[in-house]
Amino acid sequence: MHVEDIKSQLQKNNTKLVAVSKTKPNEAILSLYENGQLDFGENRVQELVDKYESLPKDIRWHMIGHLQTNKVKYIAPFIHLIHSVDSEKVLKEINKQAKKEERVIDCLLQFHIAEEESKYGFDLDQAMTFLKSAVFQELEHVRIVGVMGMATFTEDEEQVKMEFRALREIFELIKKAIFEQADYFKEISMGMSGDYQIAMEEGSTMVRIGSLLFGARNYG
Ligand SMILES: *Cc1c(COP(=O)(O)O)cnc(C)c1O
Repeated sequence: MHVEDIKSQLQKNNTKLVAVSKTKPNEAILSLYENGQLDFGENRVQELVDKYESLPKDIRWHMIGHLQTNKVKYIAPFIHLIHSVDSEKVLKEINKQAKKEERVIDCLLQFHIAEEESKYGFDLDQAMTFLKSAVFQELEHVRIVGVMGMATFTEDEEQVKMEFRALREIFELIKKAIFEQADYFKEISMGMSGDYQIAMEEGSTMVRIGSLLFGARNYG
């Protein structure tokens, strides 16, 4: 599908597009950038930093892959949004590095909604307990602006729909319990090339699309 078709479809729904450029060269990013796309997502710190350094500075970089604690410092100076906050430990480290940079870093809490086994992602109880804790209150250099999740990689659209619906419910519950007064808590990052239309129907505010925009990846 053509980029403009995807974009107009998303626009009708008020859904933001994060163009997932992992493994793709700078030229591919620039060609979207020149057409007005400013949000790009990467899943590896080294690649993200290299691209940040060599591409226009008004690009908004999104970290969408698992983030190791010892690598937070490399992206802290410039990252626009970290989608993949999957533990208290990494959030504390983001806070520490953001403080050094004298900034506040926007983050999404990643939830494990898929059937597939995964080491990464909060479950609802865990997240609620943490968000209600004094430890969380003290993290003044991070701002939780919403949630993120990935559905099971399956042809079964019903299942994908149920999983996205579950993430939306998690969002609503956290909103009500913790962020009722916080206008900034409003993002639901869900939907990729294969399932973004379902995600949109289930209330996604931000989709992360790679192969549909850039073509298939050889690796990554
Ligand atoms: C690679 C990746 C995407 C994009 O996947 P496509 O299927 O190429 O659209 C989205 N989200 C995450 C977390 C990814 O790692």
